[in-house]
Amino acid sequence: MFNPKKILVLAPHTDDGELGCGGSISKFCSQGKEVFYAAFCLCSKSLPHGMAENTLEVECRKATSVLGIPASNLILFNYEVRELPASRQKILEELLQLNKQISPDLVLLPAVSDIHQDHQVIHQEGIRAFKNTTFAGYELPWNNYSFSTNFFITLSEKEVTQKVNALKEYKSQAAKNYMKENFIRSLARVRGVQANAEYAEAFEIYKWIV
Ligand SMILES: [Zn+2]
Repeated sequence: MFNPKKILVLAPHTDDGELGCGGSISKFCSQGKEVFYAAFCLCSKSLPHGMAENTLEVECRKATSVLGIPASNLILFNYEVRELPASRQKILEELLQLNKQISPDLVLLPAVSDIHQDHQVIHQEGIRAFKNTTFAGYELPWNNYSFSTNFFITLSEKEVTQKVNALKEYKSQAAKNYMKENFIRSLARVRGVQANAEYAEAFEIYKWIV
């Protein structure tokens, strides 16, 4: 059976982890598992005009805390948004370092089909750095041209609600259509039906080591 104890979520940008696997993070935390969250961009250049530069950092601290991640397990890097491809080698080195420090037994990262250039870098360098670990891609349907739903984590009403509440902390991103509560709940319901549960999150599994 699959029973990871230490989970590392790789988020190219703050909010990617909550969107892709916020319900699963909440479930892992409530089961007493250790969850780490590493985000690579604080995206100050993507903020609406007039917002403080650290807005997304503050929102990410609140959102991950809603999910149950201790502040000491939140790792924030400050690469420039849309420019991760220019820093691939440095990012690989950061990831190798995280592997050494944390030694996770499950890594959740963007899917291989993700079209965003920053997400591609975190996927490609992630599977390189964590090649001896179980890893799976989380789903961001607006970025995935194709996605194999071959791995599911079932969720309760409480865990989906915690995901929704965590995403509500991203007030600067509230206008995005994928941030809407009915979208988050609907997708979790669809994945739940596929997994014979009330709700679920779907993943694309790339490597599974038992
Ligand atoms: Zn992103």
